[in-house]
Amino acid sequence: MARQEVSQKTRTGVLGRDGYLCQRCGRTVGLGANMQHRRARGRGGRGREVSVNFPENLLSLCGSGTTGCHGWVTGHPRLSDECGWSVSTNATEYGPESVPVLGRNEFGQPQWYWLEGFDRIPVPEETAVLRMVALGIRKAAA
Ligand SMILES: [Zn+2]
Repeated sequence: MARQEVSQKTRTGVLGRDGYLCQRCGRTVGLGANMQHRRARGRGGRGREVSVNFPENLLSLCGSGTTGCHGWVTGHPRLSDECGWSVSTNATEYGPESVPVLGRNEFGQPQWYWLEGFDRIPVPEETAVLRMVALGIRKAAA
């Protein structure tokens, strides 16, 4: 099956939500920016390909699949999972919409968020980390 492109409307919405900043390093990204799929495309239930181009599954990152932060995230799945930049395809009991993400605020500073469509809601780091622990993505602090 052909890979479905992220529509222009979705791309603009996600970039606007993310303040046109790479959510890992805070660098400004343009309209042509690569979109990170937090959960990679794969098989859905019953062997069907499911849509992965919904806003909560998309994140603005600089670079491409092999360069910049997009490349870094691709190369560091476990650390990226812990920051919500990627969501394991093995964790079928929850979706990317349930996983907070460590992004960058309008000043380019790190901030945890819940993603809700083309909106995002800031959450305290403590809350986000507790959620990550509850989902089994992070280990509880000793
Ligand atoms: Zn970056």
